[in-house]
Amino acid sequence: MLNHTKQYINGEWVDSTGSETIEVVNPATEKVIGKISSGTKDDVDRAVEAAKDAFPTFSKTSVDDRIKLLEDIANEYENRKDDLIKIITEELGAPITKSEKIHYQMGLQHFRQAAEELKTFEFIEERENSYIQKEAIGVAGLITPWNFPTNQISTKLASALAAGSTLVVKPASKTPFASIILAEIFDKVGVPKGVFNLVNGSGSIVGEAISSHPDVDLVSFTGSGEVGSSLMKNAADGIKNVSLELGGKSPLVILKDADVKEAAKTALTQIATNTGQVCSAATRVIVHDEMHDDFIKAMKELVTEFPVGDPQEESTFMGPQVSKEQWETVQSYIQKGKEEGATIAIGGPGKPDGMERGFFSKITVFTNVQNDMTIAQEEIFGPVMSVITYKNIDEAIKIANDTVYGLAGYVFGNDKEELKKVALNIRAGQIRINNSKSDISAPFGGFKQSGIGREWGDYGIEEFLEPKAIMGMPS
Ligand code: NAP
Repeated sequence: MLNHTKQYINGEWVDSTGSETIEVVNPATEKVIGKISSGTKDDVDRAVEAAKDAFPTFSKTSVDDRIKLLEDIANEYENRKDDLIKIITEELGAPITKSEKIHYQMGLQHFRQAAEELKTFEFIEERENSYIQKEAIGVAGLITPWNFPTNQISTKLASALAAGSTLVVKPASKTPFASIILAEIFDKVGVPKGVFNLVNGSGSIVGEAISSHPDVDLVSFTGSGEVGSSLMKNAADGIKNVSLELGGKSPLVILKDADVKEAAKTALTQIATNTGQVCSAATRVIVHDEMHDDFIKAMKELVTEFPVGDPQEESTFMGPQVSKEQWETVQSYIQKGKEEGATIAIGGPGKPDGMERGFFSKITVFTNVQNDMTIAQEEIFGPVMSVITYKNIDEAIKIANDTVYGLAGYVFGNDKEELKKVALNIRAGQIRINNSKSDISAPFGGFKQSGIGREWGDYGIEEFLEPKAIMGMPS
């Protein structure tokens, strides 16, 4: 049992001012694995005060000092590899191989990348009549979701530290333990007192207190659009900077000349990875109508290559949903899809055979989907795919863009002109052509209701900076 009921404030593990706790459940076993403090507004006040006090000194540290700090963090993160992988599998239910290859690695890469960026980052720009200095924004409040317990928090932490901002973090209460390990890492490498503060607790108390605190200069949030919107309203009173990484309903356009088997594998990988709990997952698959039947047939043959099961088993591709609540949400969308007239081609309602314990879903593929159906418009955050057909490439692009979201887009096929046309015309923050590798130095973030601002690499650091223009600077 993991009992981590202390908060990390001003360089120390301290008791919360409240006595309430929140239980954390392993979604594969449904057993409680530990508890955290249900933090209070007073805890947030203390954490913000510590961050505010640390800001004048930390924001003036040299770039070399901050590179060293980020490298020390990355090295110590590597020392905690086994602990991180274990806890991500237990608190999120991510299969053990994915906890290492995706979750652990992404968290690490953000610290390494931020250190690399700082080596060439221009904090000062001299123009003919002005001297422009980019300065740390101040105290940043970071609020993160449960679906990538290390990635989401590390990208924000690495960028904030690179910029010289101080911070208060509130991780998701369903997956708090990876963040506690991060706090231990920061403590071990000697991040100066008050620069990093961790307050665990519920979104409605701790998150609200951060987003409305008068001394928080920026709220950097990743999560649902609903909370993002309420947080913006909160932040409006203090005219705070807000950066939002929100949801998506991303399209995968499959060209007529694509290899059908490869296309089917790509589409299944998109919805099964992290049990569909990926903001940038391609959940609307837009396939040429002449290819449709072969594509569905290929997915039926390939779906056994994505075994659902015990996250501790190396052969498992897909673990459970993070919680009972999330499992029920996924089920309600599968029901809705049926009611609206879509056809279940693969999977369907309920748990996979023989898997009564744990919040497991079936990989589910709907055909006969119209793009205005609920399952094609709303983010499900589960392994549910909507297959929609098109007749020509302009129609495919139109369907791809017919969404309130714009986080990511994907295109798969061979015709170079069509690949380019689709990539250049999808209105989204990140496009991948033919399963090209992710690039941790490239900006990540959304158009439209998928968010405001960018994370990762130099764009991520910019979010934590304010430009100051000085005219008449003596040379
Ligand atoms: P969520 O319910 O919006 O929660 C996100 C975070 O906000 C959690 O730490 C939560 O605390 C906190 N929170 C809840 N209510 C709050 C409030 N009133 N004020 C301030 N903070 C509050 O989202 P989620 O269910 O954890 O994550 C899934 C969503 O995140 C999906 O929509 C997904 O698309 C999105 N997401 C986006 C990206 C991206 O980069 N664009 C990446 C990953 C996920 P509790 O944990 O205590 O509820």
